[in-house]
Amino acid sequence: MDSKPANAPADFSWFSNPLDWRTIDRLILLGSLVMLAPGLFGLALVAAFYITPDYLYFGLARPLLVLYGLHVLLLGGFLYAALRRRQHSDDWPVFENFIIASFLFTVLVTAWLTGTHFAEGLLLIFLGINITSALANIQKIRKAYLWGCAVMALFAVIDFSGALPAAPLLAKPMVGPDGQLVLGWLVIRVVLAAILLAISAISMAAINRWVERENLYREMSTIDGLTRLTNRRSFIERGHSELSRAQRTGSGSVACVMVDLDHFKKINDTWGHHAGDAVLVAASAIMMSSARQYDEVGRYGGEEFALLLPGTTLESAVCVAERIRERIATTPVAVDGKTIPMTASFGVALYPAPGIETLNDLLKAADKALYEAKEAGRNCVCTARPDAA
Ligand code: GH3
Ligand code: MG
Ligand code: MG
Repeated sequence: MDSKPANAPADFSWFSNPLDWRTIDRLILLGSLVMLAPGLFGLALVAAFYITPDYLYFGLARPLLVLYGLHVLLLGGFLYAALRRRQHSDDWPVFENFIIASFLFTVLVTAWLTGTHFAEGLLLIFLGINITSALANIQKIRKAYLWGCAVMALFAVIDFSGALPAAPLLAKPMVGPDGQLVLGWLVIRVVLAAILLAISAISMAAINRWVERENLYREMSTIDGLTRLTNRRSFIERGHSELSRAQRTGSGSVACVMVDLDHFKKINDTWGHHAGDAVLVAASAIMMSSARQYDEVGRYGGEEFALLLPGTTLESAVCVAERIRERIATTPVAVDGKTIPMTASFGVALYPAPGIETLNDLLKAADKALYEAKEAGRNCVCTARPDAA
């Protein structure tokens, strides 16, 4: 989906949550973060030139520095182009591929040349992956990660077999003749550890944001925003699982109570929409507090609610409905200093019963009983008659 013309949103901020950004903006952030790898490795190498020159093979150290420099330059070029491109495009897959492949390449080359391939090298890749997984295409990252691990494993085999020199960048081992760690290398290792800590802090922050976002989406897809009750979709899901449980046990029953507020349109018309909302919230609170812990209370439609009462008889379900009806009718809602009276009608049905064999039958039977309650004058409870579905 390259180059879909779309201007950057006017209220965009680089300090907002990257998970809300367009792909190209996330890639700009990712590219900038990845630039830290060759940048910092390069700085560490320059430091080693001065602090511990006799420990390096300059024949390899210089080309390695050139590689880091090239990587930084290319990433910088891409970043510049991406900043121009974001004005008219949402995505740039070529840039994404370059970021992932070049990061992997730099880390693998560094890991092989310094002999850190199975420990720090792997860790670096892994932390890099953690960050990128939230910012770029997870499939591409997974593929790169598998390749990275395969090459690392190959390094280990080659190392073990002695086919190639281990840590060819280093002219001498990182310990002095007396077995003491050389100070320069110690400093570089401390710097490396600090970099790893910084990277892991960034990746943890990205993952935390991700988890928060996941929780929010889960809540938004299951809970009704106004009443905080289960929404229709997840109420029906719960209904299916309760009915299958009742079927499995053979002796289980599930009652359904459909509730519809009476003359609700009139409440909206007389007192205003926000008063209508307050009535919905108050009625929901009454239903929630009247239900048992394992009952489900859902907002089924605008001013229509449904209760699912597992393991109940029809008589007990009617009692629950009657109790809720009475509480609603005797609890007027106070809005803006005014008192708004409310009533509701109820339809009750039980699974299993003749003609009620599925969730759909149960809901239809309860709905039909509710319709009868409306016909009977409202503010009352009606029960589904056998074969009512
Ligand atoms: P009845 O007694 O026959 O059920 O009559 P009613 O007025 O309650 O039923 P009707 O279906 O005619 O009207 C339902 C009203 O509920 C219409 C709609 O504008 C209102 N409504 C639906 N959702 C909301 C909401 O979230 N907030 C508010 N304030 N009103 C809502
Ligand atoms: Mg109504
Ligand atoms: Mg209605």
